[in-house]
Amino acid sequence: MAHIKDVLNSMDYGPAPEGNEHVVAWLETHKAGFGHFIDGKFTDPGAGKSFKVTNPADGKLLARVADGSAEDIDRAVSAATRAFKSWSKLSGHQRGRYLYAIARNVQKRDRFLAVLETMDNGKPIRETRDIDIPLVARHFYHHAGWAELLESEFPGYRPVGVCGQIIPWNFPLLMLAWKIAPALAAGNTVVLKPAEQTPLTALAFAEICREVGLPAGVINIVTGEGDTGAALVAHEGVQKLAFTGSTDVGRIIRTATAGSGKKLSLELGGKSPFIVFDDADLDSAVEGLVDAIWFNQGEVCCAGSRLLVQEGIAEKLYAKLRARMETLRVGSPLDKSTDIGAVVSTEQLERITSLVEKGRAEGAEVFQPSIAIPGTGTFFAPTLMTGVEPASTVAVVEIFGPVLVAMTFRTPDEAVALANNTRFGLAASVWSENISRSLDVASRLKAGVIWINATNLFDAAAGFGGYRESGFGREGGREGLFEYLVLGDGKPKGKTAAMGALVAAPSATAEIVAIDEVDRTAKLFIGGKQARPDSGYSYAVTSSAGKQVGLAGLGNRKDIRNAVEAAGKAEGWGAATAHNRAQILYYLAENLSSRSEEFEARLRAMTGASKRQAAEEVAAAVRRTFFYAGFADKHDGAVHSTKSRHVTLAMNEPFGIMGVVCPDEAPLLGFVSLVMPALATGNRVVAVPSSRYPLAATDFYQIVDTSDVPDGVLSIVTGNAAELAKTLADHDEVAALWNFNSGVDAALVDKASSGNLKPVWNGGSPDWQGGDAQGREYLRRATQVKNIWVPYGE
Ligand code: ADP
Repeated sequence: MAHIKDVLNSMDYGPAPEGNEHVVAWLETHKAGFGHFIDGKFTDPGAGKSFKVTNPADGKLLARVADGSAEDIDRAVSAATRAFKSWSKLSGHQRGRYLYAIARNVQKRDRFLAVLETMDNGKPIRETRDIDIPLVARHFYHHAGWAELLESEFPGYRPVGVCGQIIPWNFPLLMLAWKIAPALAAGNTVVLKPAEQTPLTALAFAEICREVGLPAGVINIVTGEGDTGAALVAHEGVQKLAFTGSTDVGRIIRTATAGSGKKLSLELGGKSPFIVFDDADLDSAVEGLVDAIWFNQGEVCCAGSRLLVQEGIAEKLYAKLRARMETLRVGSPLDKSTDIGAVVSTEQLERITSLVEKGRAEGAEVFQPSIAIPGTGTFFAPTLMTGVEPASTVAVVEIFGPVLVAMTFRTPDEAVALANNTRFGLAASVWSENISRSLDVASRLKAGVIWINATNLFDAAAGFGGYRESGFGREGGREGLFEYLVLGDGKPKGKTAAMGALVAAPSATAEIVAIDEVDRTAKLFIGGKQARPDSGYSYAVTSSAGKQVGLAGLGNRKDIRNAVEAAGKAEGWGAATAHNRAQILYYLAENLSSRSEEFEARLRAMTGASKRQAAEEVAAAVRRTFFYAGFADKHDGAVHSTKSRHVTLAMNEPFGIMGVVCPDEAPLLGFVSLVMPALATGNRVVAVPSSRYPLAATDFYQIVDTSDVPDGVLSIVTGNAAELAKTLADHDEVAALWNFNSGVDAALVDKASSGNLKPVWNGGSPDWQGGDAQGREYLRRATQVKNIWVPYGE
């Protein structure tokens, strides 16, 4: 121990270790190993295979933990299924009481949990004590409140059922809380698999569940590795999967669940930009960078790992940053003055090391401060890489370590282009003293969370989640609750009108005609113009009585690509004022209304519907178009109540380009019910109408043509719905896909969409005339929530 006089002279930190005796004692009582927590009890730790859990800071063994088999998963899912029957029937108030009790118990044991987390993960005690564990308690308190309010705030919604939840090692207990709290509040039961590197706080949490008397089976914890997770993903008794982890595994899960109908939320990787403009407060920005990339050793999915700095101030900022890096303390995670702890595992350390070497080889200048790094354990020095090219490996891939890569830009437009030049879209940080510039940039960034002059702010009241390959779904806030709820009673719905037998694929059943021979063919509608299908063929549309009533273009992959390209040029639609969109949709509704009779005749000829049925369908389509025109400027966001002196804006943003595959039932009403909410919220749409009855939709483009809808905002491609849906699902520029065509295989669409991880809504067959084919759920599904955090004050 340094003498007090020396300390005063050097003003250096002395050792400040946090005591861990209580955790060591707890681990000692589990010397025989930890079993799984299933049906309210721990299983025999000696019953099956097990694996070791070590402290990454010193490599010492902490515990042996059971390695879950498919049978263990099966038993846990059965327990959760049994528990669901009574848990879901409890009132929200009753469930809320349990959540409050959990929150209180977490607070009561906060020091124990913080120390255990630090020992298991290697992250500094300062962070587990001040961030992880307080946020865990906050999530349970917040969701206890949602449980109370569920019936009044989410009328018509019900819990999904058994939720399988798979979490990573970087925020073990916090990720558990993010997943379990909303699941329970909404009335679901859970089987959770923690990461193999860090399962211990989840097991301590299981003890808390027992202490508060949570009914058996409501929470089940099965420990294990990737194959245990895969067994949970595959289990038929699971109705919802929530995953946080790597994009690669997210993609595997998307593919594995394709067509299963399981509700899915994915929170995946990131390469988040940290943008510093020349009018930023540079000292604050430097502290922001410390939090952005050296918090949790940079093992943070939303880490600000890509520094984009305006050219004129780059060298100044780098100099300040390098000076600050010299004062960072890397060392024992249990020391209260440690800034950067141990990386979670030797594998992770090797990955970080090799990526930094790769960056160096690719020409980056690598800076590491001359600070002491412990000789043993998995420690890595804070690292700044400058002179990085936007296309170099370290600028593109997620390093998941304490490594910052820096690039420069000249103008705000260039900053936005560089920031968005990534497959990911989880978070971004914008630094400027000019609020209008900051908000302008925030609105143009394609990411789920934006922090203005701040970084890594989290709160249970605000949604967290990504755009693009960072996944879909939100955790936290009102928007996060929807992930654990489904609308309606879950019973299959009737079809609208008696339309006769349906066929899905015109190419298999219909007469294909070379297009040159006829001029009555309804063309495709692409980029605001009628277009001949690339194939040069059309197909015969026959009535239910077998009579040919017209010809429709046989669209193919090329036509979809053209439509998506045209949509890409119509970006102005999302940026237009909502009022402007509303006016255009009103005009569209009026034009549809004035041509009702033509549409009625068309429907009757195609489908054999009675006069009354056809009139009803057209009238409903007109009303629905007005409905969404009315809603175009009313799908408001929110200001979340997060921390004090923060405005946290939850903005409903359009996806961009959406694919919409329409049903055969209600050929006009189904089309309108899907296309209108997507357009009203600012998306551009490539629609595939009913294959069998496409002509109501092709007539519709005459309405579009005369209603001031800008070119490319709505394209209509007729043909084989299954083939066209697959092309839409495959397409990287299509950001979201709705499939309501029962002839199109949901599995095929889900699988194909795993490329860019677009959210897919396989919507089934709602009663198109009824209330469940219209409303806020459609607007919600057509948008993604972007949370913009704006702290204020000096
Ligand atoms: P990371 O790179 O953060 O370790 P992973 O995606 O590998 O992220 O792991 C996150 C979680 O996913 C862990 O709990 C891990 O065991 C689990 N996991 C890994 N592979 C699979 C899989 N194929 N199916 C389901 N879960 C998996």
